[in-house]
Amino acid sequence: MPQTLISVLNRRETPSVQDVIEAEDEAFIKVPGSFTCLNPECQQICSWKPGRGRPQVFCSRRCKKRYDAVQARLMQEVERIEAVLERSPASTTAEQKAIRSMLAQRRYALRHYGIDYQEFQGEANQGTA
Ligand SMILES: [Zn+2]
Repeated sequence: MPQTLISVLNRRETPSVQDVIEAEDEAFIKVPGSFTCLNPECQQICSWKPGRGRPQVFCSRRCKKRYDAVQARLMQEVERIEAVLERSPASTTAEQKAIRSMLAQRRYALRHYGIDYQEFQGEANQGTA
């Protein structure tokens, strides 16, 4: 099995800082130094650069703004749909299915924008309310 930082450190009883630094060199599995831009709509590469300043996770200010805007819009839509459902529940099975699907799709999309809502429990509660 390939060596990870943890498996190298596990060979030492009480690892020191020096052991951790050495283990980083010994470890076969390295931490990736590059990722795609955090904006799910973008495929640009952002790379880790050691040193001062916050590491870049968005390729541009434009991508950061777009990410924030889409995240905010999706969250507003989920909250708005949930508020409507609270006031007036779906009256038919078709409506229920459609509205649940709308919410599930937005929650799914939001996971790509760093938001992990709890699974919609409508299915499990169906018929018991
Ligand atoms: Zn980007």
